[in-house]
Amino acid sequence: MITGKQKALSEVARMATPYKRVLVLGCGTCTTICFAGGQKEAAEMASSLRLLGQNEKRRQVFSEHTVRRQCEWEYLDEIAPLLKETDAIVSLSCGVGAQALAERFPEISILPGLDTCFMGLPQEPGVWIERCLACGDCIIDTTAGICPITRCAKGLLNGPCGGSVDGQCEISADIPCAWQLIHDRLASQGLLSRLDELPPVRDWSTSHSGGPRRIVRQDLKVKKAP
Ligand code: SF4
Ligand code: SF4
Repeated sequence: MITGKQKALSEVARMATPYKRVLVLGCGTCTTICFAGGQKEAAEMASSLRLLGQNEKRRQVFSEHTVRRQCEWEYLDEIAPLLKETDAIVSLSCGVGAQALAERFPEISILPGLDTCFMGLPQEPGVWIERCLACGDCIIDTTAGICPITRCAKGLLNGPCGGSVDGQCEISADIPCAWQLIHDRLASQGLLSRLDELPPVRDWSTSHSGGPRRIVRQDLKVKKAP
């Protein structure tokens, strides 16, 4: 899932100040699951912005709505009627959803109500942890299902840096050394000899280092009439 956390209310209020009619728009998928931008959070933020605006004697109207996903066009159509009465949207989705709004509704100002953090999974209630950097060429078949690009602080691909202490990464005693995890898991599977193989030099053009990426599936593209 994509994780995010809400910006401070004062920051959202500052962004919204120039606009009279503001829609706080939740997203019913990733940011709902990480309790940052679902229906409940959209209602709470709209209510808090309303109170703050009243206290500071601003004449603003805040409304709220939540769509199933802000990152797919089909779910944005339902808000088009609401936007006749809207100057700005506070988006509580990830940056993908917020940019989809900007593209779909060019006349409306889009304000990010949360900060998109990373792709990760819930470790325990209230704790999410990063697991994938979307490098575009997954190699975890060679590293015991553990991603060194994401989970090693240095992104090392050919073994540990030598700085780990008691199995923890040198950057923090709370973070396991990814290469210790890889070693231990390969050992438990009887596959330690895999560490003798040198990984090939990596082509990073599939990652974000190669610029904005896209996937083109010719089999799914709609054929244009001749
Ligand atoms: S190797 Fe790449 S795609 Fe696979 S988990 Fe790591 S960052 Fe994600
Ligand atoms: S201690 Fe382990 S996880 Fe941390 S930077 Fe070194 S090899 Fe990577």
